[in-house]
Amino acid sequence: MEKLEQLYEGKAKKVFKTDQPDAFIIEYKDDATAFNGEKKGSIGGKGVINNKMTGVIFTMLEKHGIPTHFVKILSENEQLVQAVTIFPLEVIIRNTAAGSICKRLGLEEGLKLKAPIFEFCYKNDDFGDPMINDYHVIAMELATPEEIEIIREMTFKINDILKAYFLEKGINLIDFKIEFGKNNRGQIVLADEISPDTCRFWDVKTNEKLDKDRFRRNLGNIEEAYEEMLKRVQA
Ligand code: UDP
Repeated sequence: MEKLEQLYEGKAKKVFKTDQPDAFIIEYKDDATAFNGEKKGSIGGKGVINNKMTGVIFTMLEKHGIPTHFVKILSENEQLVQAVTIFPLEVIIRNTAAGSICKRLGLEEGLKLKAPIFEFCYKNDDFGDPMINDYHVIAMELATPEEIEIIREMTFKINDILKAYFLEKGINLIDFKIEFGKNNRGQIVLADEISPDTCRFWDVKTNEKLDKDRFRRNLGNIEEAYEEMLKRVQA
């Protein structure tokens, strides 16, 4: 497998073409941003940790019947994935109130929600990834009604699997963001990553935050928190 030209560079990853039309290589970076790129920094070892953690979790999800773009780990900070076209949507599930929903709706951080909340955001940095609903998605042709249904069903199933998986590791899954893509066969698959960059993880016993909120809010011990999460996932 040959790594060819870079297709795209995002805030935390680079995507490369390969000599096979249906395969990309993703390189994970240590760069970290928050608040729509307003806060910039670097988290030592993050690229390696998020690469490994995404590999473990996507493999586990595949075993539970969720199709993903993940193929295999190539190196400490690279993984081979199926070539997909990403839907320009951030799909968010919230089990407990934290982050933007607290500011937006006046909910207290840590409030256990009566039912999970499903949200779409339009993936567009120029507009700060605004929250949208099904009508926007359909009207703007970001996805069809049929695609929305598949994405929604997969997302709730992923939430059920992840909640139980992390609970066994002493972690409360507070919320997370995932992305979907369509592969060359037209199949909708889970893409992007699942890591402390894209989820909120709280220790069940102490409620300690083991995710990117340590960076967002300058809580210290950022690297240690990412390492602790990888350790629990690999246990
Ligand atoms: N999230 C993400 N990328 C984003 C925005 C949010 O991965 O661009 C994740 C975030 O880590 C959290 C969940 O989505 O697990 C909900 O985030 P929220 O809307 O509370 O926004 P934030 O507080 O991150 O600004």
